[in-house]
Amino acid sequence: SRSAPSGTSLAERARRVIPGGVNSGQRSIPGLTDLVITRASGSRFWDADGREYTDYHAAFGPPLLGHNDPDVNAAVAAVGQRLDLCGVAVTDGEVELAETLAGLIPSIDKVLLTSTGSEATFHALRVSRAATGRRLVVKFQGCYHGWHDSVSLNVISAPDRVGVPDPISTGILPEVLDATLVLRFNDVAAVRAAFAEHGADIAAVIVEPVPHNVGCLLPDQEFLAALRDECTRAGSVLIFDEVITGFRHDLGGWQRISGITPDLTTLGKAIANGYPIGALGGRADLMDLFSTHPGAPAFFAGTYNGHPAVVAAALATLTKLRDEPVHEHVYRLGDRVRAGLTEVFADLGVDAVVTGYGSVFVSYFMSGPVPRTYDDLLRNDAGMFIGYRRRLPEHGIFELPLNLKRSHISYAHTDADVDRLLEATRAAVADTLAAGGVTELAGTATMGGAQAGTATMGGALPNAAGGGS
Ligand code: PMP
Repeated sequence: SRSAPSGTSLAERARRVIPGGVNSGQRSIPGLTDLVITRASGSRFWDADGREYTDYHAAFGPPLLGHNDPDVNAAVAAVGQRLDLCGVAVTDGEVELAETLAGLIPSIDKVLLTSTGSEATFHALRVSRAATGRRLVVKFQGCYHGWHDSVSLNVISAPDRVGVPDPISTGILPEVLDATLVLRFNDVAAVRAAFAEHGADIAAVIVEPVPHNVGCLLPDQEFLAALRDECTRAGSVLIFDEVITGFRHDLGGWQRISGITPDLTTLGKAIANGYPIGALGGRADLMDLFSTHPGAPAFFAGTYNGHPAVVAAALATLTKLRDEPVHEHVYRLGDRVRAGLTEVFADLGVDAVVTGYGSVFVSYFMSGPVPRTYDDLLRNDAGMFIGYRRRLPEHGIFELPLNLKRSHISYAHTDADVDRLLEATRAAVADTLAAGGVTELAGTATMGGAQAGTATMGGALPNAAGGGS
């Protein structure tokens, strides 16, 4: 047993009994390893020493309404008065949520609930292989779809590993990695060529319609149209992974914004403002292949699927997104942030491209134009990207100080918060420049895969490298 001597900090106690002291990759941040969070509300969280941070990390994206939304929490408390997990048949809330999702998301005829986004993307690939009897999956450099083996490669890669298989983990069978083709995002010619060569073996194409796991790459309309076209022609399943884009950008997801309808859609994050729920929905003929349907072949299960508390959280979140001007608010503040940051960097003489969409913003430290492919992001000055974000907490602001991470605005953020963000960014960037810029961070600043023992550059800790979330 490993009890801690009295006086030991919570962070030290965590490291004794939790590997690395945290419960998910990319939560242990170089330079901030003593951070322990004890309270969150609205646009803020507080650490164990009582310091306040305005939060733009937003737990990688779920709390679109802000932390601890009172309406969502009230719905969870209310259902707890009458129901908890029974694990047989279906509950009233699950029916209502499925009907709501089928009504909102264009591709969804039928839908299944999971506890996480990774489970949703795992099952999307499994059912695609079941439906087609094919082996290959296509994914894109820079996209993250969860922790499971088929998609655990080529999220954030070092320059010399872009275009070659670059796993984010050891312990994956090579034949699983070999069954995934990685293409460049927004590269229509690469998609056409892959289908020309392998079309009859491609079970599915999975894509983040906006690759937000590397900040923000906006899709060319003809790229998404080419994916739709090639999948239809080859009989492959097109999967939009809308775990980030769903609900955050539009109640109908990116598919409603783009007008391109996939065969399957995966959802998570903003669906329940932070309560743990994901969903996989799509065409009825594909969804009916899951073993929840009597006699169907694609096994699907989960003890916590459809838990009444998280279903109530999702219903309350979606109701609020529909009934209140949430999107109008976060889009307006997002525009203010992007314009304000552009001005700040220009004033300071720093080369930067400020981009994003709606409530999501990111500043890449490079000259224009706005990046369209992952390769463009290789020009980002990672030292500056991480360097000023490591200084933001001194100014009461939190944006995750890891390379290429996006930031998020919630319904709880205010115009005054935006003013403070702009001032804090100005100060943090000026301090970073004054400290000699970026060289102090050279050891941790670059991007890399997580392969132990290789010379990739994801920082000292494998769990800090290469992944998304
Ligand atoms: N897909 C995308 C696009 C994601 O961003 C994430 C999480 N960052 C996932 C899937 C996996 O979701 P989860 O972490 O809930 O398993």
